[in-house]
Amino acid sequence: MADTKSVSRKTKAVIDLSALISNYQYLASLAPQSKTMAVIKANAYEHGAIEVAKALEPVVPAFAVAFVDEALLLRNAGITKTILVLEGPFKKSDFSTAIAHKLTLMLHTQQHIDWLKNQEQYRHDTWIKVDTGMNRLGFHCDEVADVISQLSPSQRKQLVLCTHFSTAEVPENPKTASQIAKLNQLIEQFSCQFSMANSAGILNWPASHGDFNRLGLALYGVSPIKPCAIVEPLIPVMTLQANIIAIHAIKAGETVGYGDTWQAKRPTTIAVIAIGYADGYPRNAKAGTPVYINGHIAPLAGRVSMDMITIDITDISDVAVGDTVELWGKHVSVDTVAAYSDTINYELLTRLSARLPKTFVQS
Ligand SMILES: *Cc1c(COP(=O)(O)O)cnc(C)c1O
Repeated sequence: MADTKSVSRKTKAVIDLSALISNYQYLASLAPQSKTMAVIKANAYEHGAIEVAKALEPVVPAFAVAFVDEALLLRNAGITKTILVLEGPFKKSDFSTAIAHKLTLMLHTQQHIDWLKNQEQYRHDTWIKVDTGMNRLGFHCDEVADVISQLSPSQRKQLVLCTHFSTAEVPENPKTASQIAKLNQLIEQFSCQFSMANSAGILNWPASHGDFNRLGLALYGVSPIKPCAIVEPLIPVMTLQANIIAIHAIKAGETVGYGDTWQAKRPTTIAVIAIGYADGYPRNAKAGTPVYINGHIAPLAGRVSMDMITIDITDISDVAVGDTVELWGKHVSVDTVAAYSDTINYELLTRLSARLPKTFVQS
């Protein structure tokens, strides 16, 4: 059956599942002693959690998501590997759900430990979140002994102490070393398994590689390192693309788009592309934000509308209505678009909207 969505409007995210696997294999090879879990919360950073999970399931030891409902979507799609729920239980009955669907819950408050007490059937690893300086979730280091004393011997045997970094993307920042040292002290004291590294930890901080690493952003071929270093073997998994639906010539002095914020300094050719902020292209992308078209880079001209953007193609000759434009992907990095939009790659990926279709390819 014809996909009417893609016939009438070719705006879409193309997801390269081969790139995903090759990124995973490269990043896992950086930490050969660790089990590298694939973090696929937020619909796999909006790459499509079910398809991403199915592609990765043969090569990953486990997945991680943010909350229980995200895990259930994967279970309902037939994913059987371990799933860690990073924000843990929100209510006591989440333990029953976890038992029924084999979910591993991150435990980070005394309430969670109380809920755990009569759950004999909950036989997963006991993930305890430790706050080593992020001050978001977790027990303080000096509370951990008391928490562990409340565990049964079998829960104690499967203990995993887990912490999360606040600045691992900045290699010069000494904060990460201090967070590693704090968790290491507890690991020695309780001789247990541990997990610290996110993407930036995997890339920047070998000392943080644990029994489990939690790989998110870099899996999708996007750099977590600041300032945006290109990480050579990584391949961007997502290409955000749309087509040109109109081309106009305008005179010098005329303006383009809402608010008349952009004015032509010379006779200018403007191409209109069928993507806007309702698709997740950032409204605050500034004039000059690059797009890629037929081998050239062209700049955004004028404000991003709900369903369209306008670009200046005066300096490019071989462009026609119907041509495909890459908004980000293998030629224009999502980091570049993020920089022009005063935000970060994580936000641009995860804010793509539900109306944007996805196509999955093997390169
Ligand atoms: C999102 C998340 C990760 C993955 O982080 P990336 O920077 O995307 O690799 C790891 N651990 C926790 C607790 C998270 O919330």
